Amino acid sequence: MGEQVIPIHDLRGRLAPSAPMPPEAAWDGRPPLDRRGRPLHDLRISVTDRCNFRCSYCMPKEVFDKTHAFLPHSELLSFEEITRAARAFVALGVRKLRLTGGEPLLRKNLERLIEMLAGLRTPDGQPLDITLTTNGSLLARKARALKDAGLQRVTVSLDAIDDAVFRRMNDVDFPVADVLQGIEQAQAVGLAPLKVNMVVKRGTNDHEALPMARHFRGSGIVLRFIEYMDVGATNGWRMDEVLPSAHLLQRLQQVFALEPLQPLVAGETAERWRYADGSGEIGLISSVTQAFCGDCNRARLSTEGRLFLCLFAAAGHDLRALLRGGASDAQLHAAIAGIWGRRADRYSELRGSAQPAAGARRVEMHYIGG
Ligand code: SAM
Repeated sequence: MGEQVIPIHDLRGRLAPSAPMPPEAAWDGRPPLDRRGRPLHDLRISVTDRCNFRCSYCMPKEVFDKTHAFLPHSELLSFEEITRAARAFVALGVRKLRLTGGEPLLRKNLERLIEMLAGLRTPDGQPLDITLTTNGSLLARKARALKDAGLQRVTVSLDAIDDAVFRRMNDVDFPVADVLQGIEQAQAVGLAPLKVNMVVKRGTNDHEALPMARHFRGSGIVLRFIEYMDVGATNGWRMDEVLPSAHLLQRLQQVFALEPLQPLVAGETAERWRYADGSGEIGLISSVTQAFCGDCNRARLSTEGRLFLCLFAAAGHDLRALLRGGASDAQLHAAIAGIWGRRADRYSELRGSAQPAAGARRVEMHYIGG
């Protein structure tokens, strides 16, 4: 794996291709399982491909500059279309919705969408688990309205606690104090339990891991360390910039007494550890060094309505064509069940042997959502 590199290059004006729709067949009414027996439980919905940060590992400035063509508004799924799609996914077994992007808080009137999604119920009448991933830049202003609209929890991405390192990483000179204020406000209005995700890039911010742990320890916030991943095709990813979670854990254990925790639910992405003195917990997401495709139960709906079965997929299924083409609910259910039922991917597990989606351009994280 040592030599793997994703070169930085330009994808202006190039969108992911569309994956073929399965042949039409009625849905049998049972929650679908994919070919590896995985149920469909989580849906991540990207509500915008725009972001106000230019993190070099996600939307590098050189590629996403003033000339980059983001999707025009007419291409985005409307709130009604998102809600209709989400309702169909819920009928098929989805219980958790995560709004993402781009930066989801840049989507105008997002609270309205949250209200609409919060009105959905599972077939046995239960509300859904609705959460959001944000860079936190607009959270201080929006936390109250999001909570009132029915959002339950929020995950904030934060890659450093040192202001200079953070400004460098977001590459738009955004101060860390404003994100911390957003986190504080989210906690104050009860968007809990709050998680903070830190992408660890060796040589860039790995020295921030301990200060981050110290900062959030005892705060009730779960800090999760994510291995820098080879998503997309623009970030110049190199294996030697990945700090394996196992190494990070050793560093943390030199300072803190940590005990492993059992996963809370199947398909959980993070390995959980608690501070032995009871001052909270941390998570390690080893997306590169320890692939966890076996129980992946997530689907992703892109900003313009393509259904992706994996972060590493090259193509998505065009659900928008169905939504805008007059498909009935039964047709929508059948299409999603058919797509999920044919799913066999395990891209992360294959990393290192065969390149995932070899030869094809993989979809970008800001477009599909994290
Ligand atoms: N703007 C929102 C945010 O900052 O959380 C949501 C979208 S962002 C694409 C979702 C998450 O993906 C962020 O935590 C970001 O750090 C993470 N991410 C982006 N590129 C990544 C990569 N190459 N490896 C690991 N995580 C990545």
